[in-house]
Amino acid sequence: MEKWRAADRLLKFSSRFASAVNWNNSCKSKQGKYFYSVATTVHRNPLFSSISPDDISYFKTILGERGVVQDALALDAANTDWMGKYRGSSKLLLQPKNTEEVSQILKYCNSRRLAVVPQGGNTGLVGGSVPVFDEVIINVGLMRNILSFDKVSGVLVCEAGCILENLISFLDDEGFIMPLDLGAKGSCQIGGNVSTNAGGLRLLRYGSLHGSVLGLEAVLANGTVLDMLGTLRKDNTGYDLKHLFIGSEGSLGIVTKVSILTPPKLSSVNIAFLACEDYTSCQKLLLEAKKKLGGILSAFEFLDSDAMSLVLKHLDGVRNPLPPSIHNFYILIETTGSNETFDKENLEAFLLHSVESGLVANGVLAQDINQASSFWHIREGLPEALMKAGAVYKYDLSLPLEKMYDLVEEMRVQIGPAATVVAYGHLGDGNLHLNISAPAYDDNILAKIEPFVYEWTSKNRGSISAEHGLGLMKAAKIHYSKSPETVQVMASIKKLLDPNGILNPYKVLPSSLFSQN
Ligand code: FAD
Repeated sequence: MEKWRAADRLLKFSSRFASAVNWNNSCKSKQGKYFYSVATTVHRNPLFSSISPDDISYFKTILGERGVVQDALALDAANTDWMGKYRGSSKLLLQPKNTEEVSQILKYCNSRRLAVVPQGGNTGLVGGSVPVFDEVIINVGLMRNILSFDKVSGVLVCEAGCILENLISFLDDEGFIMPLDLGAKGSCQIGGNVSTNAGGLRLLRYGSLHGSVLGLEAVLANGTVLDMLGTLRKDNTGYDLKHLFIGSEGSLGIVTKVSILTPPKLSSVNIAFLACEDYTSCQKLLLEAKKKLGGILSAFEFLDSDAMSLVLKHLDGVRNPLPPSIHNFYILIETTGSNETFDKENLEAFLLHSVESGLVANGVLAQDINQASSFWHIREGLPEALMKAGAVYKYDLSLPLEKMYDLVEEMRVQIGPAATVVAYGHLGDGNLHLNISAPAYDDNILAKIEPFVYEWTSKNRGSISAEHGLGLMKAAKIHYSKSPETVQVMASIKKLLDPNGILNPYKVLPSSLFSQN
């Protein structure tokens, strides 16, 4: 058993994993894009126009030559999602530099019935960020200015194209942190984060973006600019419309500016990497951590033995943190506080108690920033390791904690030897990332996974999308998590804000609801 040793200096993680996103497409499916569901087929809406030379000329008058991208290589990248699983055939990528340009573009597209797909860093995992057919891609990546930062309130106002990691670095210099952090931070944009209501690694401590986003600016399909860019914590004047845009995946408008509440950076950060022999111990450990670490607990992540084996095999430079064997489960605990001595003692006492009570089989406390980074690298590098392993079917589920791992075990029985079931996730948030890893995409494997995974989740009152959204992958599956009446209201809102349905068509809601258009 390893001895617990306290970290001997402060840890700083602002750019611990800048290169998490692997843009190498070597793992792309060779079999095309329709692997998201056996049952789903999407047809191009015949009411949408196709791009004409006149359209191109018009866009050039608004954006100039540089903002109108038709280069084949750039389009190939923008047409293909991070997993290489979804691929569109857009012939046009537009890059506006300000809100007015976004408004002009959308107004024109709406009048011409040109469908569009808003795109941020293109790190989404549900096929929401790429065209399905020939939709015009609009990327606000050139809108990347920080507009203001108030050191007293911690309110940051910025344009939607800011890369998350750049915001994290900016705030680090100011003594603050972003309330969200995720493995794709080196590429994803804050506009994309808001539009997916991204959860990530800090949700346990700082809550969802519905809490920390104080305001935003969004452009509707007809070009109307909605200025909801408040910086107030309290504002009960009428319906709080900004929430419609948080998590609507570009289907209601393009987010152009964001105002977000950021917490101060605390000086003492500690990371422990632990092994548990069964899932019940993981659950009990979470409960104990909440009780004993209380306010300083900032992350509680888990991975199972298949996830660890995958990382060790496919991620360069990763070593087993608790050798020699592979344990059944691993837990990464992070604490963040302001009293170094107290926090350290608190965590050490908690760990000692956990070992003595048999909840933890082995563990190690990070000694320095390198060790801490290496622990985070194991957890954050899992999506990349899965990509390197071959084809992957990804499911992002919220489930009651006590049932969560039952699904993993049942899935293993269901799939048999044809594929490996890999489980990890944000245990502290009840969020399971269930991944089925296979050498190649295969409809027979998919038929074993779906609809089983959705039915199981629905039966256990879980959510089929905890944090990644519905995108194209799960648009037709929304009924597993939402009632027909709720979906109807969503469709009415969509029709009100985007009557021609040009914004990210075929995504989020079932296309069948809009077939009368
Ligand atoms: P994109 O992928 O470009 O787009 C995502 C969706 O948002 C699309 O529907 C798109 O149309 C829409 N959109 C993008 N920008 C705008 C805009 N300005 N206005 C309106 N709509 C817009 N997600 C998590 O929640 N938690 C995680 O821990 C997490 N970890 C990840 C780790 C890795 C390695 C990877 C590759 C992905 C991970 N993700 C995670 C998923 C993804 O990174 C997030 O969903 C992220 O928020 C997407 O941001 P993006 O800028 O890349 O958006």
